[in-house]
Amino acid sequence: MAFLDMTLEQLSSAVAETGEKPFRARQLAEWVYRKGVTDPAAMTNLPKALAERFEILTSRLAGRADSADGTVKLLLELSDGERIECVLIPTERFATVCLSTQAGCAMGCAFCATGLGGLRRNLSAGEILEQVLHLQSACGRKVTHAVFMGMGEPLANYDATVAAVRALTDPARFGLSARRVTVSTVGLPGPIRRLAKENLPITLAISLHAPNDALRRELIPAAAKVPLERILSAAQEFYDARGREVTLEYVLLGDVNDTPVCAEALAKIAGRLRCNVNLIRYNPVPSLPFRSPSGRAVRAFAERLARRGINVHVRRSRGADADAACGQLRQRTEPQA
Ligand code: SAH
Ligand code: SF4
Repeated sequence: MAFLDMTLEQLSSAVAETGEKPFRARQLAEWVYRKGVTDPAAMTNLPKALAERFEILTSRLAGRADSADGTVKLLLELSDGERIECVLIPTERFATVCLSTQAGCAMGCAFCATGLGGLRRNLSAGEILEQVLHLQSACGRKVTHAVFMGMGEPLANYDATVAAVRALTDPARFGLSARRVTVSTVGLPGPIRRLAKENLPITLAISLHAPNDALRRELIPAAAKVPLERILSAAQEFYDARGREVTLEYVLLGDVNDTPVCAEALAKIAGRLRCNVNLIRYNPVPSLPFRSPSGRAVRAFAERLARRGINVHVRRSRGADADAACGQLRQRTEPQA
């Protein structure tokens, strides 16, 4: 089993099997999780054979794009040649990583670069977590926040996603506060309810993108079988169980879902839940027919929601010049996709 796929208990047993003392497992975990070291040669207090025994990174760096605002996007090649992306968004105090959970995605959202090639495969928990290690080394920063908003639908790869969240929030591993971890989903009611029952006070973000089923079906083909009402009641269940306000994400697509009628309908929906609405300005994808809304349309949309008493934020678009929207770096390097 790859190092990052193991729980600390599994690591302890694996170390014990080599005949080493139990404290060696703690030392190893400290190098990797606390110090972010992946090179066995740098693990100076460990016997060389033990340090070299575990495969810490199974993927290799295959590309990098730096944005003028400091955002760094990495393209990683997995052991079987599949390629995924991950991003680090720095501020002075914080470093937010944006992680992929699948190579590709089966949901086929009409506006999304990742959806174009369909689902290739699920990532393991370790493959999700090694993105953090690659980003930390590439940027010389320690992760403070994690969002599951890269390639793939996290809740369609439920077990690996939850195992990765547990590693991120385990004080003996990455040690992030659960409040600083956000899982974004296209809106799968069954897995949302299951997540509500895990003891994980993370933030749940639901990609709504449309205030009615007809428009939502056009934008998110996978939503055809999932009426908005079912998503909203699952979101309510998550709030009731966890006491954490849900985030509704809404990508504004010029002249598609950015109209005053849509804003009023969204305000009605949002008013029923304890939630924050995040408006995201669309980052155009070269082969797709959608465009970014004007700044004026974004402001007007946000103001309409705010007037109805909705907590609304316009998400600052970072890294747009580094193909930072999901799936875009891979797409650029794969002209056939
Ligand atoms: N599959 C999950 C998480 C990954 S996508 C989900 O859909 O929620 C993370 C967010 O980025 C989603 O809200 C998605 O709709 C949005 N997104 C995808 N492509 C985009 C683009 N080109 N510009 C802006 N946002 C985009
Ligand atoms: Fe998949 Fe999310 Fe992209 Fe939709 S927006 S295709 S669910 S990654």
